[in-house]
Amino acid sequence: MQKKVAIIGSGFSSLSAACYLSKLGYGVTVFEKNETIGGRARQLVREGFTFDMGPSWYWMPDIFDKFFADFGKKTSDFYHLDKLDPAYKIFFSDDSITIGDSMEKICQEFERIEKGSSEHLVEFISKAQENYDIAINKVVLRPGLSPFELVTKETILKVDQFFKTIRGEVRKRFKNPKLIASLEFPVLFLGAKPSKTPAFYSFMNFADFGLGTWHPKGGMYEIISAMANLAEELGVTICTNAPVEKIRVKDNSTIGITTNGSPFDADIVLSGADYHHSETLLDAEYRQYSEAYWDHKVFAPSSLLFYVGFDKKLQNIEHHNLFFDTDFEQHTQEIYDDPKWPREPLFYANFPSVTDGGMAPQGCETGFFLVPLAPGLEDTPALRNKYFDLIMARFEKNTLQKITPNIMFMESFCLKDFVEQYNAYKGNAYGMANTLKQTAFMRPKLKSKKVKSLYFTGQLTVPGPGVPPSLISGKLVSELIARFN
Ligand SMILES: Cc1cc2nc3c(=O)[nH]c(=O)nc-3n(C[C@H](O)[C@H](O)[C@H](O)COP(=O)(O)OP(=O)(O)OC[C@H]3O[C@@H](n4cnc5c(N)ncnc54)[C@H](O)[C@@H]3O)c2cc1C
Repeated sequence: MQKKVAIIGSGFSSLSAACYLSKLGYGVTVFEKNETIGGRARQLVREGFTFDMGPSWYWMPDIFDKFFADFGKKTSDFYHLDKLDPAYKIFFSDDSITIGDSMEKICQEFERIEKGSSEHLVEFISKAQENYDIAINKVVLRPGLSPFELVTKETILKVDQFFKTIRGEVRKRFKNPKLIASLEFPVLFLGAKPSKTPAFYSFMNFADFGLGTWHPKGGMYEIISAMANLAEELGVTICTNAPVEKIRVKDNSTIGITTNGSPFDADIVLSGADYHHSETLLDAEYRQYSEAYWDHKVFAPSSLLFYVGFDKKLQNIEHHNLFFDTDFEQHTQEIYDDPKWPREPLFYANFPSVTDGGMAPQGCETGFFLVPLAPGLEDTPALRNKYFDLIMARFEKNTLQKITPNIMFMESFCLKDFVEQYNAYKGNAYGMANTLKQTAFMRPKLKSKKVKSLYFTGQLTVPGPGVPPSLISGKLVSELIARFN
């Protein structure tokens, strides 16, 4: 008899698991509380403008290729990918750095800023590539069941890299603050400060400079659509407007879920919703982690987001733009050490219509702005508006143009929306940070220790935050389910 799996949520990790489990022969139904699928990667379409509501950086194309190859497919069967050149631009208060699409171009830019730095860069990225090969081919493919998973002949040789930090390794080689910022930026995707992120994670620098930044034509939501199409082709049923209210347990084993007041029976329940929320769907005796446990964890930042339609093409910008024209240290302290709304925030601006005309009406620009924030802060309309004005003014100053008269509409999304729309713990955007003490087997477990046939996936579990890790998380949990059921 075919075993039935109920999956909670339709983010990348849930859709990935749904595909693998269906291929393994399980009968899979996905329950998504929102009207549309994709979770943090949902899409907003308004007045001819298309916005990716969350992720916009397509990094590590090999992980996406491997995912679709596991089903005998190619990414090009579903969407068209372009490698961006330049990959992105970083604005500083007195200059900007443009990151090209090859090491040669990036080395030239480094030399322009600091003579002799390209030699150090090549050496640093070559080490980062070694780490990437070990991380992607060995470490991240382990389900986090035991510390011994991390012990391989390659990791033993690199053990010092787990105790040194990215910050230390970068600053040992580079003195110019602009180069330091550009090399410390990629690990921000892992959710922690460079001073708390093990040097081993320099593999993110290889992902950045070595593998490049890509764009799926039509936006990141194309990946969600591709995965949903694949899942349905494999026999998965996807239900939207289906909030799960309860994970049902009998004799210490899951027997299904309750959605919209009705029971749905299943042999296995897998939750891809935020872990903390998923456990609140259980009676207290079945929860593995206490409120104190979650409260002590280092969460990745939340974000203040603006989706803006402009009635003209903007000048002096690229597809991806980072505004590091204020103090990087100060802002990271306001996220991690002394949580508060930042005094002078760094921010990120994405204009996909610069390279993909279909994402905005003719002659217009689609703008997405992101300010990283500490999770758990107060969120009011007045605060959102204050920060919108602040970053618009900074944007205009740095890019030497007026844009506020050209705003057709603006929508915001912040902490309260992360809680209301995704049940995100403290309104986090990127899940739980990858610090040394929150790596691999030290992250919340994929398999419940208390309830048989109950599993978890997603950015709070292994391997961690980001789209590629979410794809891997779905694969790892399906392998565990197949092993135990
Ligand atoms: C603003 C932002 C920018 C980002 N930028 C990037 C980037 O550029 N590149 C990158 O690689 N990553 C990026 N990320 C991270 C990446 O988007 C996430 O790591 C990934 O999408 C997480 O997927 P997930 O499956 O773990 O969770 P989610 O996408 O959160 O999916 C969980 C799903 O569960 C649903 N759910 C919750 N509770 C219930 C319930 N009770 N019943 C039913 N359904 C429920 C939610 O609605 C949601 O759909 C970004 C994230 C954000 C928020």
